[in-house]
Amino acid sequence: MLVVMKAHASQEQVRAVCERIESLGYRAHPIPGAQRTAIGITGNKGAMEPGTLDEMSGVQEVIQVSKPYKLVSRDAKEEDTVVRFAGSDGSFGDRDLGIVAGPCSIESREQAFAVAERVARGGARFFRGGAYKPRTSPYAFQGLGEEGLKIMAEIRDRFGLKIITEALDDESLVLVAEYADVIQIGARNMQNFSLLKRAGRAKKPVLLKRGMSATLDELLMAAEYILSEGNYNVMLCERGVRTFSDFSRNTLDLAVVPAVKKRSHLPILVDPSHGTGKRHKVLPLSRAAVAVGADGLLVEVHHEPEKALSDGIQSILPEEFAELSAEIRQIAAVVHRQVN
Ligand code: PEP
Ligand code: MN
Repeated sequence: MLVVMKAHASQEQVRAVCERIESLGYRAHPIPGAQRTAIGITGNKGAMEPGTLDEMSGVQEVIQVSKPYKLVSRDAKEEDTVVRFAGSDGSFGDRDLGIVAGPCSIESREQAFAVAERVARGGARFFRGGAYKPRTSPYAFQGLGEEGLKIMAEIRDRFGLKIITEALDDESLVLVAEYADVIQIGARNMQNFSLLKRAGRAKKPVLLKRGMSATLDELLMAAEYILSEGNYNVMLCERGVRTFSDFSRNTLDLAVVPAVKKRSHLPILVDPSHGTGKRHKVLPLSRAAVAVGADGLLVEVHHEPEKALSDGIQSILPEEFAELSAEIRQIAAVVHRQVN
């Protein structure tokens, strides 16, 4: 259920409605908009009687949200959510595209610095790299753990790049939330509901990747878990889904971008690296992602991909990243966006 306040409702009126909702055992989520404030009601006690709020002062209407997700939906908030970062021009969800680049894994200080220096020069505002890696084989490189996080924190200081890295479980989430600027929840954890709730209680923005067989509703419901715990700074990420297509690692579902835009106010990024699994496909799919309306890109870059400990075959070279960055600036302009 959603309470829509009148355009000129006062702060006190909004507060009184929130207090009434909480006193009935639900959680109130005031969502200020350009025209009016809406208040989302969540909780798992069953439906609430609309009559209890209808008559309160400042309330315009109480609407039943028919979709299974509430807080992530455009019904709750018409305007796009913009995720910004103190001390950076990088953002997601506004006119500016957010460009995230870096290696699949943080392998060593030298490797991470070599890539970071080049992607910063190539125009990225965000640096990605896994310190905790979800690997298909338990014998594959699992990441450097906290040491990797420390390397990324140094990279932020040196190059001014904001840091995005994956949390695999509760333990790594605590550390990732401490060191990084954005907590990534990977495709394999998209429906790890306890982890989503934890991320919802963290004080950092969350990048939620679509599960490899997740429907759009499932992706939005996963995001709803995070918002329902009070963290509204959530970005979605399309990273390809499993299909019968046999020429790429995954099938990048670019049609999901306008579908998300229609249903949700959350920014959506596209990851053409995991989405295709092949270096030569990253540039063409990046162009397409920007053209279709993505709010940002997440791209794997490695200066020596043949030596990479993970995902070398889909990692582009720093000079290819520079070319990608220059090209998407031109495409961005066509769709009334820009790359800062
Ligand atoms: C990654 O970004 O390195 C990653 C593991 O991605 P995904 O969760 O999409 O597979
Ligand atoms: Mn990877």
